[in-house]
Amino acid sequence: MTSSPSAATTVLSDLGGCRPWQEDFYRHLHQHPELSHREHEMAAAVAERLRGSGYEVTPGIGGTGVVGILRNGDGPSVLLRADMDALPVEEATGLPYASTATATAGDSAEPVPVMHACGHDVHVTCLLGAADLLARHRDAWSGTVVALFQPAEELGDGARRMVDDGLAGVVGPVDVALAQHVLPGVAGTVGTRSGAVLSAADSMRVTVHGRGAHGSMPQAAVDPVVLAAMIVVRLQTVVSREVAPTTPAVLTVGSIQSGTKSNVIGDRAVLELNVRTFDEQTRASVLEAIRRIVVAECQASDAPGEPEFELFDRFPPTVNDDATTQRVRTAFAEHFGELATELPLQSASEDFSDLPTALGVPYTYWGIGGTDPDAYRAAVEAGTVAKDVPVNHSPCFAPVVQPTLDTGTSALVVAALAWLGHRAAR
Ligand code: ZN
Ligand code: ZN
Repeated sequence: MTSSPSAATTVLSDLGGCRPWQEDFYRHLHQHPELSHREHEMAAAVAERLRGSGYEVTPGIGGTGVVGILRNGDGPSVLLRADMDALPVEEATGLPYASTATATAGDSAEPVPVMHACGHDVHVTCLLGAADLLARHRDAWSGTVVALFQPAEELGDGARRMVDDGLAGVVGPVDVALAQHVLPGVAGTVGTRSGAVLSAADSMRVTVHGRGAHGSMPQAAVDPVVLAAMIVVRLQTVVSREVAPTTPAVLTVGSIQSGTKSNVIGDRAVLELNVRTFDEQTRASVLEAIRRIVVAECQASDAPGEPEFELFDRFPPTVNDDATTQRVRTAFAEHFGELATELPLQSASEDFSDLPTALGVPYTYWGIGGTDPDAYRAAVEAGTVAKDVPVNHSPCFAPVVQPTLDTGTSALVVAALAWLGHRAAR
């Protein structure tokens, strides 16, 4: 620490002033969740807040995406990202501000319950707070803040839609991109990690063709059930025989559909697969191995048509840049002390990295704890974390309001100032 107060200390001296509106805003967001690509009320509230803080606001990027820009002299441009969407989950937290909202989803006319079960309401509230604090104390730093609020993280295409809708032209040159996620863990802690942090996820629908016939006359058929069964067995060798044991990868066949009746051989089978990998090379080789095996098994069965492949629900891997992460880690250690921790590798997936990848800039993504500290430590002591601490997407996922909001807000400010707080750092 230097003898004069750091930029972060100056900017965060006002954290207490943000707290009342942030807590109200957060509870309101939590009670009024919106599904992916329908974050209309949230986007309007975000735009209004950003304007109030003095940001130049561009709404409607990629649908409901919002970008606020604050130019404050020479220096780096730092992009801070929050995601906005909620999930079709029925809230069971019992909180006084629990959601009872419903909405229609997809093609169904039947409304589904909606809940901020992934904590994106925390992310939005923290980024608005950080944006406001940085605007109030612009004498303490120099450069540009880009506050980005993206739709539809849960579908994996919200970031991509903003990119495709001209994001680069809106934000201009950017030097670094930063994002965070609230997770199960002691509230008040922040966890960083270099290298792979979240997996890539790919779902694939595979349709294979057989020849239908009477169940008693297999000689007239190409049986798609047997074909699908051979594919499922052979796919087990992709991870076990083709991927190095030191490289994590998962290939799950989550669904098989074929046939209608015991004495009818059907004419096709549809398999749905999910693949998790942590780097682009492994990702590409596993997806290619699936195609190779399916094509070969169809030939082995003398299938009358080519198999069809459809990729969906795709998320890129999140691989934190070493130098960027080290800079944030050092700043966090200085500000948070022993509450700055190492984030374990997460098997979940995110589309955040689509933004820095498209902009051609390095990034880092960190976690903040959202669980009541006493409850978390008691669960660790009892060995019941998996059972007693609700995870993201659970109907019981309920981050404690504080110190979670203070921590997420501070983390964004501290990380951004690791670039903006030093004029010579560019
Ligand atoms: Zn989620
Ligand atoms: Zn999430």
